[in-house]
Amino acid sequence: MLTRDEEYLLLKAREAAANAYCPYSHFAVGAACESEIGIVTGCNVENASFGLTVCAERVALFGARSRGASHIKRLAVSCVNVSSEAPAAERMCCGACRQVMAELMQPDAVVLVDGVGTFTLADLLPTPFALKLGELNGE
Ligand SMILES: [Zn+2]
Repeated sequence: MLTRDEEYLLLKAREAAANAYCPYSHFAVGAACESEIGIVTGCNVENASFGLTVCAERVALFGARSRGASHIKRLAVSCVNVSSEAPAAERMCCGACRQVMAELMQPDAVVLVDGVGTFTLADLLPTPFALKLGELNGE
């Protein structure tokens, strides 16, 4: 059972998918992240050079961070064109997005995947890659 705030965040993710730029895959995705600065949304943005395509989750997270967010507590994602009978895997966040979440969100932050369920970031990526800044600086 989702809370009213979670339902609203999912709604914003679904709305954000309307702006998806997906002429190659036609796989529209929207995302919305909630932090101390409010809700910031994103959509997937594809590129003819496929490797340059960016997922909706990362667009939302980078947008929030670039606007000053430092405590992202929830992220919702919605693959609006995926059939309700499709496997859950087709609606889950990709590995790249999970690693970006691990950089910008706490392990107990909530990730709402439309039509699939509610997870913590630790559920989605229990052992993320991490660097300790002291080691990079020779400390
Ligand atoms: Zn992704």
